[in-house]
Amino acid sequence: MNNMSKNSCIIFSDLDGTLLCCDTYSFEGATPALEFLRKKNVPLVFCSSKTKAEIMHYRKKLNNYHPFISENGGAIFIPVGYKGFEVDYTRVEGDYWVIELGTRREVLLKALESVCARTVSKTRGFSDMNAEEVARLTGLPQEEARLALERHYSEPFFIMEGDPGAVLREIENMGLQWTSGGRFLHVIGRSDKGRAVRLLSDIYKNNARDINWITIGCGDSLNDLPMLKAVDKAVLLKNLRGVYDPGVRVPGLLYEENGPAGWGEAVLRLIQQYGPTD
Ligand SMILES: [Mg+2]
Repeated sequence: MNNMSKNSCIIFSDLDGTLLCCDTYSFEGATPALEFLRKKNVPLVFCSSKTKAEIMHYRKKLNNYHPFISENGGAIFIPVGYKGFEVDYTRVEGDYWVIELGTRREVLLKALESVCARTVSKTRGFSDMNAEEVARLTGLPQEEARLALERHYSEPFFIMEGDPGAVLREIENMGLQWTSGGRFLHVIGRSDKGRAVRLLSDIYKNNARDINWITIGCGDSLNDLPMLKAVDKAVLLKNLRGVYDPGVRVPGLLYEENGPAGWGEAVLRLIQQYGPTD
């Protein structure tokens, strides 16, 4: 960094159980921090296990026009023409440049099927459910549960019968990854939140070189670990059981209370510390 460069932050944030309350999906309590970020023009990038359709719903609700990362790092969506950035994208989808990182869901579903056969177990995933069942399991309104079913790069599931350890090991043996977002296990390809966050951070850094970018990550679950490892300042919130996920260990990790109010406090504190100052 030279003396001329000014500091700014990029906030990468999980949604469920982090910016959104794990039971009500409300972001009440985070409003002062959200307004502050908007005033200071700090990019707030949603990085969630949620689908593109769900994240678009929350972007609208939260008045957010920044890039976002869907399905645990399956894809990065950048609004076409965003900040005049030059982006090496995979394709254009409506108003977005898409950088595809994940493994297609059809491949994941086939793999999960053979994992079950090999380990003599039974799983139940979103592909087996309708919106009503997803709504019942997640507490989401049925309209939002329908958006959660529009998946392309991941499959949330739970294990109904069999040895969970064997199922997870077999997923790894097939060259895929599993993670946990609090309520469900997820099977994903070789992509994760960390890979997507690194790539998107580099896009900011390469396109806005006059700014000394400091990356901040906020999450509450194991699926956030790769993201928290990929940022300069990592914040862990208590999970839906009211404890810090014991699987999330990162050097220098900052601990915060749960929910949108805890999120807001952490974000305000870090922005005041790291900028932008004007
Ligand atoms: Mg979460």
